[in-house]
Amino acid sequence: MELEGKVSLVTGASRGIGRAIALKLANLGSKVAVNYRSTEASNKADAANVVESIIRLGREAMPVEADIRDGEAVKTMVEQVIAKWDKIDILVNNAGINRDTLLLRMSDDSWDDVLNTNLRGAYLCTKFAVRYMMRQEWGRIINISSVVGRVGNAGQSNYAAAKGGIIAFTKSIAREMGSRNITANAVAPGFIVTEMTNKLPPERRESMLAMIPLQRLGQPEDVAELVGFLATERAGYITGQVITIDGGAFP
Ligand code: NAP
Repeated sequence: MELEGKVSLVTGASRGIGRAIALKLANLGSKVAVNYRSTEASNKADAANVVESIIRLGREAMPVEADIRDGEAVKTMVEQVIAKWDKIDILVNNAGINRDTLLLRMSDDSWDDVLNTNLRGAYLCTKFAVRYMMRQEWGRIINISSVVGRVGNAGQSNYAAAKGGIIAFTKSIAREMGSRNITANAVAPGFIVTEMTNKLPPERRESMLAMIPLQRLGQPEDVAELVGFLATERAGYITGQVITIDGGAFP
C-alpha cells in the first residue's frame, strides 16, 4: 500500500502493458484513471473491465476517454481526473502504436501517426498533468520508451525516432522539474507479449527469443513491476534515467 492516497493516470490502459501498469499501481494503493481511445466498442469494454478489476481490489478507478494525439481531448481528460480526485501524482505515458515498414516504403501518414501518438501524445499529457504536480511539489512521470529507441531497428525508423525522442524528452523534463520534487524516468522494454507483438510473424518471435539471455519473452507484468517501483517513495532519488527491461538482450 505504498501508493495509498496517490492518484495515477495511465494512458492506453485498456490492454497490454498499460493494463498491467494500472492494476499494479492500484495494487500498491493508488486510485487510477484508466485512459482509453474510443475507436471501437471493445476499447470501452476493455477499459471498463480494467476499472472493475481495480474496484474489486478495493481501490478507486475511473475510465477516461481521450485520443492522446488531440490536445483538447487530453486537456479535458486531465480536468476530469482533477474534478474527481483533485490531483494527479503519477502519470504513466504508455499509449503507443507501431506502423513498421522500411524507410523507402514509409508513407508520411505512418511517420506522422507514430510520432503524433508516441511522442506528441506524451508531450501533451505531461504538459497538462505536470502543473498539478508542480502545485503540490510531488510527482512521478514515467514514460514507456523501448529498447528500439536506444539501439534502433531496421523497419522501425518512425517508432525508433519517437521512442528515442521520448528518452530525450524525459531527460529534459527531469532537469526542468527536479526542483519541484518531480521525477521523470523512461522505461525501455524489449520484447513483451501483447497485441502489439502478437501480430509479428512467428520467425521474428523466435529470432528475438534467441537474443534474450533469460530465454523468455517479457510479460506486461514484468514492466508493471518496474513502473510500480518508480512510482514509489523508494525511487525518489532516481530521475532522468532510462531503465531497460528486456531479459538482458540489449545491455
Ligand atoms: P498494445 O497492446 O497495442 O496497447 C497499446 C495501447 O495504447 C492500447 O490501449 C491502445 O488503444 C492505446 N493507444 C494507441 N493509440 C492511442 C491514442 N491515440 N490515444 C489513446 N490511447 C492509444 O501495446 P503494448 O504492447 O501494451 O504497448 C504499450 C507501450 O509499450 C507502447 O508505448 C509501446 O510502444 C511500448 N512498448 C511495447 C513493447 C512490446 O514488446 N509490446 C516493447 C517496447 C515498448 P487502442 O485500442 O485504441 O489502439
